[in-house]
Amino acid sequence: MAPQIEQITENRRFSVPLHPGQKIAAKALALTSVLQTTLEINQLMALFFQELEHTIPFDGLYYDFPASAIDIKLGVQSGHSCSYTLEVASEALGEIRLFRHQRFAEEELETIENMLVGLLFPLRNTLLYQRALQSAIIDPLTGAKNRAALDGSLQREVDLAHRHTVPLSLILFDIDHFKRVNDRHGHLLGDQALRAIADCAQRTIRDSDLLFRYGGEEFLVLLTNTGLSGAQMLAERIRRSIEQAQPVIEAGEAITISLGVASLLQNEGATDLFQRADQALYQAKHQGRNRVIAAT
Ligand code: GH3
Ligand code: MG
Ligand code: MG
Repeated sequence: MAPQIEQITENRRFSVPLHPGQKIAAKALALTSVLQTTLEINQLMALFFQELEHTIPFDGLYYDFPASAIDIKLGVQSGHSCSYTLEVASEALGEIRLFRHQRFAEEELETIENMLVGLLFPLRNTLLYQRALQSAIIDPLTGAKNRAALDGSLQREVDLAHRHTVPLSLILFDIDHFKRVNDRHGHLLGDQALRAIADCAQRTIRDSDLLFRYGGEEFLVLLTNTGLSGAQMLAERIRRSIEQAQPVIEAGEAITISLGVASLLQNEGATDLFQRADQALYQAKHQGRNRVIAAT
């Protein structure tokens, strides 16, 4: 008969006040000073894993913080587990789960809880830092990456494409007659349309493609490993998806976009690539809007 593995899950809420009055174990303090050497969440969890392993034998760790899309698995997820919901002064810091083939004894759980005291404040600082980094590169209205993020990404992708001789393409698009939409329906509805158009574009592209809000109602898609014909096809799909979805529509008002596409040429720099996509977009506007033009 196959052995039956008993799945034991201890689920505890683990919380300390902002100024913990309780005596923190020396081990936890030593742990904090080790954990304070990083503000990178994967590294922080790897360090916590290593340090805790010296004190309590265990097989695996799972840390989950859905609010920031953080999900870290280390080691092996064996049969028994104990989990803690982490909080500092009612601020949620995610959930941590430790795994072992053998169930944790009560005194081991106490030691783990002491060690978690040492994790809480470095974890809180790391999460705050990650959030600050994110908000510096994300446009709050549309959720697309912002102009500051584009400058770094474009240069990096151009360098990589040249080094590995792989294709790289850009799609630049601008909403047609958007001033008119604002004038007729107000800026609030205009903002709503901007969000809907960014969502539509984001849903159409692959996970590896990057969407940036380049200016007010201008967006850029950076397509790694994609040549001109692939980029043209994708641009046409984006154009059609927005034309068909008609994000925010009052009777008779159609929202469309015009797109310019360019692919990186041999020895070409980021600025020239961008300018060719921009010229193609200008031509798309000039030729009647709601169309894709590829740069030559
Ligand atoms: P075209 O077809 O030639 O692009 O015409 P257009 O009216 O869209 O012209 P242009 O691209 O120059 O228009 C920019 C307009 O976009 C100006 C402004 O009213 C609007 N806009 C820019 N940023 C925002 C924003 O954040 N929210 C809203 N609601 N409108 C914006
Ligand atoms: Mg514009
Ligand atoms: Mg426009």
